Amino acid sequence: MKQINERVRLLNERDENEKAEYVLYWMQMFKRAHDNHALKFAIEQANERKLPLIVYEGLKFYYPWASDRFHTYILEGVEEKRRAFEKLGIKYVFFLQKDKHAPKQVVAKIAEKAALIVTDDFPCFIIPAHNAAIVEKAKIPVYAVDSNGIIPLSLFEKEEYAARTIRPKINKILDKYLVPFEDAKIKIKSLDLKIDCPDTEVNASNIKKLVAECDIDHAVKPSPIYHGGTKNGRKRLKFFVENILPDYETTRNKPEVDGCSRLSSYLHFGFLSALEVALAVKESNAPKASKDAYLEEIIVRRELSYNFTHHNAKYDSLESLPEWAHKTMRKHIKDERPEIFTHEQMEKCETYDELWNATQREMNETGEVHNYVRMLWGKLVIQWTKNYEEAFAILEDLNNKYCLDGRNPNSYAGILWCFGKHDRPWMEREIFGQMRYMTSGSTGKKLD
Ligand SMILES: Cc1cc2nc3c(=O)[nH]c(=O)nc-3n(C[C@H](O)[C@H](O)[C@H](O)COP(=O)(O)OP(=O)(O)OC[C@H]3O[C@@H](n4cnc5c(N)ncnc54)[C@H](O)[C@@H]3O)c2cc1C
Repeated sequence: MKQINERVRLLNERDENEKAEYVLYWMQMFKRAHDNHALKFAIEQANERKLPLIVYEGLKFYYPWASDRFHTYILEGVEEKRRAFEKLGIKYVFFLQKDKHAPKQVVAKIAEKAALIVTDDFPCFIIPAHNAAIVEKAKIPVYAVDSNGIIPLSLFEKEEYAARTIRPKINKILDKYLVPFEDAKIKIKSLDLKIDCPDTEVNASNIKKLVAECDIDHAVKPSPIYHGGTKNGRKRLKFFVENILPDYETTRNKPEVDGCSRLSSYLHFGFLSALEVALAVKESNAPKASKDAYLEEIIVRRELSYNFTHHNAKYDSLESLPEWAHKTMRKHIKDERPEIFTHEQMEKCETYDELWNATQREMNETGEVHNYVRMLWGKLVIQWTKNYEEAFAILEDLNNKYCLDGRNPNSYAGILWCFGKHDRPWMEREIFGQMRYMTSGSTGKKLD
């Protein structure tokens, strides 16, 4: 592995295919035709070699938690992307692999005629394994490009301990990175190139049918509120900046009002870049306190989560917690729990706590949950399970199965925050030890 520049890593040491017909960009997480460092790098590589560029995006049926909800949301962004790439003169291929009978190894097959592969360097979920697998198979160079956040992940060489350690480092360099993105232009168009690869026609009227044909979890229904794609993300961004941002400093802690951006799922699937959102906020006329509060979340907190999963291979387990959290858990593992609920009871919203049940119900039905109640949601599970590992497993499953923004570095940092990650020790108490404590009583009192 070789770091080529701040955002680009060469993952192998293979020679380029000199008889190549194109450069291949395998779009996995940065699902947009703008503000995308991976796409820009791929265009530059193609232009340097006087080759056209092919963008390939696939959706398989067997990734963890694959359901109607996530499939629908992803498919809702396909048609507009095809149009955006058409305008850029770049051939975009989308393949929906519906079940085990569908063609396999499609990326490796397209790569046979490519000079090199550019892939998304997303530090979480199935993407690192995808990239490792293509490195195994490909006989050409594979470049992984980081278009995750505003600051390149490579700039911070170690895992940061908390927001207070990463914040001053970000602030020192932010002016250099919080600037408009300059998209690149392809020189040789690829729209008429014939590629030996399945291409799925997706449009607003066939999404339901396509999803129904996939071998995925049909019990998790599409969100009735949130629809995928850059256009929908931008619509919400505009509404947020004009109507909500001015009061964000106070409304963000009020789950009963529409007081946050609700952009996390657009950011997770890459329909919007964090840069586009942060710049829209920075350049708005909203009061400074609200802008600062928002930029703290989308820059400091978000970069901290990505830094965590980038540097800590154990990000999906309690092992990644700081030593004080382990110590306090060891001390309190045998504390009596007030009541134990099973995974199933929680999923069916059958606890005694109405606020918790309402939070889970919202998650099940809409695919979204507000940050403020999400913290309480995570904390309460710790006291309703036999041990901390079981609490983590239930939270990971419910968050990632139902939330559109799940399976993200923020998911793991958020869940582990409930166990002390990126936090500090608090006053000692039963079950939680020195982990910060929250109750429905105190949280509920602040809500209407
Ligand atoms: C138990 C638990 C689980 C969580 N799971 C997820 C998850 O699966 N996916 C997810 O994106 N976030 C998760 N979070 C963090 C936070 O709850 C969401 O980012 C936020 O609620 C998204 O709503 P919004 O877009 O309206 O946020 P806004 O308040 O409008 O914030 C703007 C953006 O800043 C970022 N952000 C906000 N809060 C945080 C935070 N605490 N940490 C990191 N980035 C943040 C997000 O990208 C968000 O979209 C979790 C938090 C907890 C406590």
